[in-house]
Amino acid sequence: MNIPLVDLKSQYLSIQGEIDEAIYSVIRDSAFIGGPYLDRFEKDFAAYSGATYAVGVSNGTDALRLALLACGVKGGDEVITVPNTFIATAEAITSIGATVRFVDVQSDTFNLSPDLLESAITDRTRAIVPVHLYGTPADMDPILEIAMKRNLKIVGDAAQAHGAFYKGRKIGTLGDAVCFSFYPGKNLGAYGDAGAVVTNDVAIAERVALLRDHGRKMKYEHAVAAFNCRMDGLQAAILSVKLRHIEKWTERRIHIAALYTKLLAGVSAMRTPRILGNVRSVYHLYVIATARRNQLQRHLKEEGIATGVHYPIPLHRQPAYASLGLQDGTFPCAEDQAQCVLSLPMYPELTDNDVQ
Ligand SMILES: *Cc1c(COP(=O)(O)O)cnc(C)c1O
Repeated sequence: MNIPLVDLKSQYLSIQGEIDEAIYSVIRDSAFIGGPYLDRFEKDFAAYSGATYAVGVSNGTDALRLALLACGVKGGDEVITVPNTFIATAEAITSIGATVRFVDVQSDTFNLSPDLLESAITDRTRAIVPVHLYGTPADMDPILEIAMKRNLKIVGDAAQAHGAFYKGRKIGTLGDAVCFSFYPGKNLGAYGDAGAVVTNDVAIAERVALLRDHGRKMKYEHAVAAFNCRMDGLQAAILSVKLRHIEKWTERRIHIAALYTKLLAGVSAMRTPRILGNVRSVYHLYVIATARRNQLQRHLKEEGIATGVHYPIPLHRQPAYASLGLQDGTFPCAEDQAQCVLSLPMYPELTDNDVQ
């Protein structure tokens, strides 16, 4: 048996004609940076996300960084997020000189715990970055309510959650700005780095568009000293092709997840994902939890089945954030999660037989 954790090649082969044509069109038109292919993808992705505006950028990390800046976060401010995410979430905060403040997660959904949120807010807090981990929306109603009451911005990290829903609302509408990554392995993946900020707020959209392109208003007039965080035309064209297929792929992920959950239902030493009611997880990852994680991972590897751990070290225990001085035991749920989670193979081309 040889089952990988993800398989990008078989997805390419299934849409090869469309992708190759899109790539050659960009080259023939020399539309390499920005341009018509980006404009079109932004329009289509905004519609897909349920937001009015989408601004394509260089990657998901930059999407978070520019969205925070566009929301007015600056050096010295505090921004709240969770410790059980990819490091990019925290890097986006600390790279603009803000301070990251972690809040622990719920032990069953692995998403930000609304009950612990208020105690982390200080008079320097400016924003909250809820992460929709593994493609499953965080419990946003109480988080939105607290943000409203305390006058805080919400910048969603939906890097793993393209197409997710929370209580009938699309994930791209749950916050002042919501950020996506199109890293190749994400549910909607480019053939290189790419990302986007979506928002209903025209001022935020315009600010992100300004910041991604050297603060440029006109060709050689720069309103602010900013960054180069643009998206390539090639990536935009490829993403437009894939956007036409994403719902079919997402339905397949949901089917695979349901099959795993059904087949694992009798295994008492293992927890399958808990998803809140009235929520659509898009299962970027299918993650089980077991006290014998390392043994199980070894066993599956011997059987030719690849797995992953997302993530083995919580951010407050990373050497990169040692200066925060947060010891083991500070965030028990995130720490326990790091010990017991295991990601099983998950990609739309996985067959029912493979899942079995
Ligand atoms: C992938 C990811 C990012 C960063 O996206 P890049 O495009 O790799 O910069 C941020 N947050 C989460 C939760 C991610 O999974």
